[in-house]
Amino acid sequence: MDFDLTEQQQQVRKLARDFCDAEVAPGARELDRTEAFPDELLPKLFEVGFLGAPVPEEYGGMGLDYLSYGLIIEELGRTDASIRSLVSVNVGLVGTCLLHWGTEEQKREWLPRLTSEGLGAFGLTEPNAGSDPASMTTGASRDGSDWILNGSKMWITNGSRGILTVVFAQTEPGSKARGITAFLVPQDSPGYQGNPIHGKLGLRAGDTAEIVLRDVRVPDANRLGEVGEGLKIALNALDSGRYSLAAGCTGISQACLDQAVRYARERLQFGRPIASFQLVQQLISEIYLDVEASRALYWKVAWKHMKGERHTVESSVAKTFCSEASVRAADRAVQVHGGYGYSDEYPVARYLRDARVTTLYEGTSQIQRLLLGRHLTGENAFT
Ligand SMILES: Cc1cc2nc3c(=O)[nH]c(=O)nc-3n(C[C@H](O)[C@H](O)[C@H](O)COP(=O)(O)OP(=O)(O)OC[C@H]3O[C@@H](n4cnc5c(N)ncnc54)[C@H](O)[C@@H]3O)c2cc1C
Repeated sequence: MDFDLTEQQQQVRKLARDFCDAEVAPGARELDRTEAFPDELLPKLFEVGFLGAPVPEEYGGMGLDYLSYGLIIEELGRTDASIRSLVSVNVGLVGTCLLHWGTEEQKREWLPRLTSEGLGAFGLTEPNAGSDPASMTTGASRDGSDWILNGSKMWITNGSRGILTVVFAQTEPGSKARGITAFLVPQDSPGYQGNPIHGKLGLRAGDTAEIVLRDVRVPDANRLGEVGEGLKIALNALDSGRYSLAAGCTGISQACLDQAVRYARERLQFGRPIASFQLVQQLISEIYLDVEASRALYWKVAWKHMKGERHTVESSVAKTFCSEASVRAADRAVQVHGGYGYSDEYPVARYLRDARVTTLYEGTSQIQRLLLGRHLTGENAFT
């Protein structure tokens, strides 16, 4: 494996870093404070191409390789995890679903719009079906050549401020996992209601919504994949979503390292910079260990992907480690800042709040360990 980035990958990383420093970083604290959606930033994200980084150019994307996409996500994660999250879902979950399972017509209709006009959402979780999505109750029933969707979804990123939601629904009640089908539901469909959720611990600039579906009519042409294939589609998309999340968490950990070093050099106690105390150096070293291991894990996923190999296990490992590492890193960065880390004068408190969700969504740490445990003992959890 070659750890040297190609010239193009280095350029992409520089572009992402410069863009994040100039356009994303200045507004991050205020967006977090006010729980405001990044209305002004979004058009710039479309313009720079990040909302379609790995999508082929023929569908309006940048056509970048998978590692380049990860590098962009890492830089966004380093700067503002709320923004990283909306990009990850649009590209890593929704774009992937369409590319993999969409008909040519569906790809031509939606991918150019999702890369230049509005966001996509991934509607799997329900109020009473999180870790166990097969128990979902949102239903879709046939009505001639249409489907009628009823039910509700919970915690859906981009669910109220986007243009499209991939909705997973039961089409064969009682069949659990085998009865789930995926649908492309425009968010302006009559009967679709996205209610923003406020008061979140972190990702406060991101749109997280409850979705209510009341007799939402979609044509059969909006069915994504075959009837009954929905859960397979969702799990397949999560291979890519978890990669993206791992890259974003690496960015959070890197930000914690940078900020902890900066602060430790500036802050004087006992007449010396606190950076000179070995116990502070230990905190910083431990953040660094997590940064290095996290980056290696998400790069390994990219390496497998670019060889055309499946990376379900690697994505799960990277997601689990990088998310937990980002929580540890943020906690240590707060510790380095002492009392000042406990307010939003410095960004480390935001890093900790933003990192916290990453061990919960796209499969909790417990669910990842269950899947890995079953896989390692030969129970084929990842089929
Ligand atoms: C900010 C945010 C954004 C999100 N975005 C999206 C999105 O875009 N699309 C989407 O579909 N969902 C999204 N989610 C939902 C997220 O994926 C779920 O919250 C997650 O899957 C966990 O489900 P739950 O919250 O229902 O927790 P539960 O499943 O109720 O789990 C609660 C606890 O029980 C544990 N647990 C559950 N089952 C087991 C078991 N068998 N063994 C051991 N422990 C177990 C869990 O690990 C957890 O600790 C988002 C959530 C948040 C907070």
